[in-house]
Amino acid sequence: MRQRPTRLRASVRRPRPSTETSTSARSIERAPFYAVAVVPAPLATSLGLRVGPEAQVIGEHGQPVPGLYACGNDANSAMGPEYPGAGCQIGAGLTFGYLAARHAARTASRRG
Ligand SMILES: Cc1cc2nc3c(=O)[nH]c(=O)nc-3n(C[C@H](O)[C@H](O)[C@H](O)COP(=O)(O)OP(=O)(O)OC[C@H]3O[C@@H](n4cnc5c(N)ncnc54)[C@H](O)[C@@H]3O)c2cc1C
Repeated sequence: MRQRPTRLRASVRRPRPSTETSTSARSIERAPFYAVAVVPAPLATSLGLRVGPEAQVIGEHGQPVPGLYACGNDANSAMGPEYPGAGCQIGAGLTFGYLAARHAARTASRRG
């Protein structure tokens, strides 16, 4: 944790181009320094596995693949290529996750 604050200090002290509007970066001078790991994550995907109304993955011949479900970013988005706004991803993921679990439980109980 010695190198990073040094590099950050150098970068915020560098003269900024006049077109740059962000003024939120500040120099970090005094220890203790804390850090969190930041990793990339997809916001949304638009083309995933094709699923039916109960989240069953639809195979290449148009029939559900038994025991295979998809939801969230793994499933084809109900919104197509659009991202209409916050909530549509988690809402759809939760709903289709619930439907998949319910269908799987029902299928398992029928098999005994
Ligand atoms: C910054 C940000 C803000 C967002 N804001 C919103 C919002 O306001 N509203 C909204 O609806 N959506 C929002 N989204 C989108 C939403 O969070 C995602 O679309 C949604 O979480 C996708 O759900 P998921 O279950 O497909 O994937 P994830 O939530 O990414 O879950 C995948 C899980 O699988 C685990 N995993 C990965 N690989 C493996 C492996 N090999 N073995 C075991 N586990 C593994 C991961 O650790 C993770 O827990 C936001 C996304 C981001 C990044």
